Amino acid sequence: MDNPGKFYITTPIYYVNARPHIGHTYTTVVCDAVARRQRMMGFDTWFLTGTDEHGQKIERSAVAAGCSPKEFADRVSGEFRQLWDRMKLTYDDFIRTTEPRHVQGVQALFTRLKEHGYIYKGSYSGQYCVYDELFVDVTEPGAPCPECGRTTETIQEENYFFKLSAMEEPLLKLYTEYPDFIRPEARRNEVISFVRGGLRDLSVSRTTFTWGIPVPGDEKHVIYVWLDALANYITAIGYGSGDPKDTAKLARYWPADVHMIGKEIVRFHCVYWPAFLLAADLPLPKSIIAHGWLLFEESKMSKSRGNIVRSETILDTLGADTLRYFLLREIVFGSDGSFSFDALVQRFNADLANGLGNLSSRTLSMITRYFDGEIPYPSLGARTAADDAVAELANQTIADFHVQFEQFQFSRALETAWGLVAAVNKYIVENEPWAVAEKEDQDSRARLATILHTSAEALRIVTALAHPVIPESTARIWEQMGLGDISRLDLRNLEWGQLPLHTKLGKVEAVFPRADKSTIERMQQMEQERAGQTTFTEPSVELKPTESVAAPVAAMQAPAAAPANKTITIDDFAKVELRVAQVKVAEKVKGADKLLRLEVDLGTETRQIVAGIAKAYDPEKLIGRKVVIVANLAPRKLRGLESQGMIVAASLGDEGVPVLAGFLEDVPVGARLK
Ligand SMILES: [Zn+2]
Repeated sequence: MDNPGKFYITTPIYYVNARPHIGHTYTTVVCDAVARRQRMMGFDTWFLTGTDEHGQKIERSAVAAGCSPKEFADRVSGEFRQLWDRMKLTYDDFIRTTEPRHVQGVQALFTRLKEHGYIYKGSYSGQYCVYDELFVDVTEPGAPCPECGRTTETIQEENYFFKLSAMEEPLLKLYTEYPDFIRPEARRNEVISFVRGGLRDLSVSRTTFTWGIPVPGDEKHVIYVWLDALANYITAIGYGSGDPKDTAKLARYWPADVHMIGKEIVRFHCVYWPAFLLAADLPLPKSIIAHGWLLFEESKMSKSRGNIVRSETILDTLGADTLRYFLLREIVFGSDGSFSFDALVQRFNADLANGLGNLSSRTLSMITRYFDGEIPYPSLGARTAADDAVAELANQTIADFHVQFEQFQFSRALETAWGLVAAVNKYIVENEPWAVAEKEDQDSRARLATILHTSAEALRIVTALAHPVIPESTARIWEQMGLGDISRLDLRNLEWGQLPLHTKLGKVEAVFPRADKSTIERMQQMEQERAGQTTFTEPSVELKPTESVAAPVAAMQAPAAAPANKTITIDDFAKVELRVAQVKVAEKVKGADKLLRLEVDLGTETRQIVAGIAKAYDPEKLIGRKVVIVANLAPRKLRGLESQGMIVAASLGDEGVPVLAGFLEDVPVGARLK
């Protein structure tokens, strides 16, 4: 087959201020499915993802978490990468904006924009939203951000500016000449009307914080985080590197074929990014595709609503393929889609377990039973119209699937493929191969061979089409069919009639696990438990940099516990296992007026703890209360009673009056404090 050329696809690089959740997974899985299919269509494919690690928000979050911005970024970037690796996503490169190759590339781009006359020094006075890392068009100090409603901060500083105003006409010309540059249409219209409304020059440097890439030659400035971040699409493939190997890579893959993004970052990608590229006289990406939001039972997932679903919960129960299939099948790409555990399990049962799973297991187990595990010859004489209809539908399915998938209509493409699954399952029921198998005559034997060959051939086609979306389970079906390594398959060459005859099946077994109501309950419980594990707190951005959300933790320590300037490492802290527990029993200890004997529920076990809080708390009032305990403290005896842990409390005044630590939000029992 001829070589169709290269294909370069990118996800946005994810801002390390938030830990990975299912929204990030959605974008990344879509790109992974597209990249896998492009490889199987013969394209020299390059799939890039990564993390965005600079900016004021990260600097503040790091202060709040008590670590350096780099340590903070390392931790969260690592979580993203681990998740993608656990899901076996096939990215070719993972760029971090703190890497030297990126820093040098961004500085090269900045210099080039300056040399081309698009950057000048000026002074900026106006409002800035730290949460969105966005200069906003509001004038009142402290006015709410028009994007997110958070309080904006007044910024008055000397900045470098980018002549965005000069780009109004070139951008409008671009949108008109290349109608596919922004998709879908609704997003394109938004962008056009935004640009028609007039563009003001953009401040592209900051001086009031340091966590960023220095402006070359003027190091007290750091480059605006969006200019920094957007450049990853070229720095990752060698822009700004002097190495000829990198230059060749850039020439090979740039411009990108697809930048896949969420609709909330359309302006940055469809206005700022092409403006920078035009000014730098670099080729523009071919298309920017914005998908909708994943809503959780109708409302946008957000940290403040506490309704973020983590992918790990689904990976641990139904597996990566189920999550991938759901995201591509259930959500109409480009529109908002809703996520719920009920819908996930329903989709799984209907399409995977009962649909494809059933087709695969009944077809392959009948071939095992009736033909000794060898795919039988179809027989011309035994052919009926029903067989021909399946063959015809299969060829039509291939054609339609390709067209729909290439138009990013993943849901429709999968619906098309599963139309074939349903048709073949019905064909099997109607042709009753198990009944035909009971007759021993030659004609019946030929008919049985034809039915099972037809089913297996359809199974081959649907398995191949679905492979980019559900790679693991289709690879297993492929192996069970005796067809070897599915990743070598050329998807351009799939049409009916290519199932190699007399192929020996592998070991046939169920590919999809079973799911029912208890699966939903398990997932909900896992989510609750994970919600309790606050690895770090995302501080509200309204905090002044000098304030620290770590303050309440410090207050738990007795004043004299440690000299203020003595620090411990994060590993030291990790040794202390703090958990949420609920008081079940509380009573006075005879002969000790300060002590209470408590029994607390840790979720997995009940502990007895003896605590010196009797003077401050009535035992009756403690029952049902959630407290924080040190769960891994060696047991010790107090007044003859074993105390299995310690309750955390602030200690006030010279007398050390205890005040129990607690939470404003409801937290599940057993949750760990980190
Ligand atoms: Zn905002």
